[in-house]
Amino acid sequence: MNFHVLTLFPDMIRDGFQTSITGRAVEKGLLSLDTVNIRDFSVNKHNRVDDYPYGGGAGMVMQPGPVCDSYEDLCRKIGKRPRVLYMTPQGQTFNQSIAEELAKEEDLVFLCGHYEGIDERALELIVTDYLSVGDYVLTGGELPAMVMIDCISRLVPGVLNNDVSAEIESFHDNLLEYPQYTRPEVYEGKKVPEVLLSGHHKNIETWRRQQSIKRTLERRPDLLADANLSKKEKQYLAELLAKQESKCE
Ligand code: SAM
Repeated sequence: MNFHVLTLFPDMIRDGFQTSITGRAVEKGLLSLDTVNIRDFSVNKHNRVDDYPYGGGAGMVMQPGPVCDSYEDLCRKIGKRPRVLYMTPQGQTFNQSIAEELAKEEDLVFLCGHYEGIDERALELIVTDYLSVGDYVLTGGELPAMVMIDCISRLVPGVLNNDVSAEIESFHDNLLEYPQYTRPEVYEGKKVPEVLLSGHHKNIETWRRQQSIKRTLERRPDLLADANLSKKEKQYLAELLAKQESKCE
């Protein structure tokens, strides 16, 4: 997977990518990260890439020329025209299933805005997807791009030491992950659930699935409508719901 980031702050992206799992995946050649400084495509003698908004109003707007030129230059270099994801609070909220879909691409371009955003004509010309990290406004698109790159990287085969761990994490099957425990067996008087010490794999798996369902019901009941549950698990959920109802009465 090759990530390309069009940004005014390439150092921010590069620094964030060099550590931990993503850094190791780059060393192994499983991922590549290429940052393109939009400012390098300024035609202004002071290297400016922003200007006042037509019609007035607060702030500055990134000009279309440097944004489009940085993308066209990238396309010429790599010989293809990858999808361009514009980081914007006005986009679809990023989630695990969007990440799974994007992880199938060979190249992805992340376009980071700054100031009041980017001239609409540049967006119309090059953007294929509008993505947000949530209903709040940040200073720039760099942090959202880093969030998405991190998440997509975990889904690229070989990036995680154990590929199974990506498959059983939260949001897989539209469920949250079960609670996790490690040594010591007893901490501050609190014991690790007995079943996890039993070595009985089937029982452990059933317990974990049930904990996932319970936790999702408690914390993110909205996810359950699309959860992938077996007949037995649906019955377990019905029991939990009945208990909840009887508590409310
Ligand atoms: N004026 C814009 C608006 O109201 O929609 C917000 C501009 S914001 C200050 C500057 C840049 O930060 C945006 O162009 C975008 O790239 C990025 N950004 C801010 N919030 C974001 C979010 N929630 N998700 C993704 N990108 C965001």
